[in-house]
Amino acid sequence: MPGLVGVRVTALAGGIGGARFLRGVLAALPEADVTVIGNTGDDITLHGLRICPDLDTVMYTLGGGISAERGWGREGESFVVAEELAAYGVGPAWFGLGDRDLATHLVRTRMLDAGYSLSDVVRALCERWKPGVRLLPMSDERVETHVVISDADGQRAVHFQEWWLRLRAAVPAQAIIPVNAEKARPAPGVLAAIADADVVLLPPSNPVVSIGTILAVPGIRSAVHETAAPVVGVSPIIGGAAVRGMADACLAAIGVETSAQAVGVHYGGRGRTAEPATAPATTGHGTAPRPGDGTADGLLDGWLVDTADAGATVPGATVAATPLLMTDLKATVAIVRAALELAGV
Ligand code: GDP
Ligand code: CA
Repeated sequence: MPGLVGVRVTALAGGIGGARFLRGVLAALPEADVTVIGNTGDDITLHGLRICPDLDTVMYTLGGGISAERGWGREGESFVVAEELAAYGVGPAWFGLGDRDLATHLVRTRMLDAGYSLSDVVRALCERWKPGVRLLPMSDERVETHVVISDADGQRAVHFQEWWLRLRAAVPAQAIIPVNAEKARPAPGVLAAIADADVVLLPPSNPVVSIGTILAVPGIRSAVHETAAPVVGVSPIIGGAAVRGMADACLAAIGVETSAQAVGVHYGGRGRTAEPATAPATTGHGTAPRPGDGTADGLLDGWLVDTADAGATVPGATVAATPLLMTDLKATVAIVRAALELAGV
């Protein structure tokens, strides 16, 4: 694809859904200059170690170290340390900490303790993994997602990981709060990567606790709203259900229906028609763009839904439908190409 050499792609990403999509981006656009803004709201400190699950999932997936079976953590992993901790009765048992993975957390914690920023740490870790993208944390400051629940112990806030992993999101979330987000600043390079992009992509990551948390850092949402680049999102919801995980429980907490259309409307259309760099090869199943219908802080020019959700509409954005299951790399590349076509890239 001549003309796409050096094309600047910026994507916001959570963990597994984001990382799988990004693998497709790199395969579809091997010559592109890809920046990934990663969610750090899932980060947690355990045994004194700082753990960044979503950043590591992107880094391991794109760097060839991910467990293909689990989709998180390392391939060829062992859990000897976790077993020894369990023998001491020291938890939490619900958070999987593999031995190989522990080395990453040791390096990160050591660097943070020495005064390096999280951006510095990610850069250093990526020197080993060479993910082929510029991976940036959304912020260098601590923003941790907490979930307000009511159970036998009364109403309280628990760390997102406890709600997600121990409680399997089965206890309704009364609120999902990115603690400290309002005071956090975007990490160096984040806003410029959005402003200077040729295309901005919202992968099929969790709209609330992955993409939503990134957008909660002041300045990031408005940067996406205002960028001159076309912005296209890919739905993580197919036929009224999350493909994996409990995104429905997160959407319920913010009063958004679990449907591709509702998530698109939640992101909002920008109400502008981006100037396509090249004419799209086909018009797909898209409906005509409707400039002027966007919302005041809308994000999307295009919203890609599964064929099961064809007919969905998002005011101020063009909706197109294509199969959205990332069953293998070929299928994922096709999804990325459809998203780029919708963006006019
Ligand atoms: P997490 O941080 O590991 O939970 O991962 P993300 O937030 O990046 O992505 C989670 C979302 O990915 C879930 O809401 C899923 O519905 C979505 N997802 C996972 N696999 C697929 C897929 O094959 N296709 C689509 N469209 N969405 C997917
Ligand atoms: Ca996550």
